[in-house]
Amino acid sequence: MWGVRRPGYHRPPVRSAPERRELLRAVYEEARGCVRCPLHQTRTTVVFGAGNADADLMFIGEAPGANEDRLGLPFVGQAGKLLDKLLAEIGLDRKDVFIANTLKCRPPDNRDPHPNEIEACNDYLRGQVDLIEPTVICTLGNFSTKLLRADSTGISRLHGREEERIIGPRAVRLYPLYHPAAALYTPSMLEALRADFHRIPELLALGPPDQPRALEEPVPELDDITIEPGEASREPEPAAQLGLF
Ligand code: URA
Repeated sequence: MWGVRRPGYHRPPVRSAPERRELLRAVYEEARGCVRCPLHQTRTTVVFGAGNADADLMFIGEAPGANEDRLGLPFVGQAGKLLDKLLAEIGLDRKDVFIANTLKCRPPDNRDPHPNEIEACNDYLRGQVDLIEPTVICTLGNFSTKLLRADSTGISRLHGREEERIIGPRAVRLYPLYHPAAALYTPSMLEALRADFHRIPELLALGPPDQPRALEEPVPELDDITIEPGEASREPEPAAQLGLF
């Protein structure tokens, strides 16, 4: 389960960046044909996520909106422009980070994600986190924060408070932030988001947190996502959608 310290800790697999990238591509290939929840009936495009497959910093938003659904890329609307601006303020851009969402498909009329949809999409997000191996994960807003912390505490209590968490097979610095879409319309939230954002370089500079002592072999599996290295790369990549740097 997300964010829970498990007593029987498994040793994280040691994989090279190219291996992880290829496996990520395989997760993408599986996700882009996904029919695990009813959202596949209304989506235009699966918005898998985009950015640097070997990023130290990962952002996890809520779900694609209309623009994302059309273009197949995360955070391409007004909230995305704010995210880009805040990244620039700390000397980063999209090719330095990986941006994903809790849901890969747009909920109709931008309604909140439903629990069954979050559950259906969970394997993909777990696969992304396991393979990108970020040291800092910024959850944007309530949905990704609650999912990764496996707890119902809301973002207004948690934003800007970093904590070490076991996510999948490794420890990460989890750093909840207000969602940029919410900050667009509430000046006090924007101020808080900006202040929290400006602490990201400090967290990155700490490097990865101590990893828990491995108690068990072998390596964890990525749940029921079937990954055959080499398989995905045989098909041409719809580059604009995967957006891997
Ligand atoms: N809001 C999100 O949470 N994700 C997106 O990709 C766009 C807007």
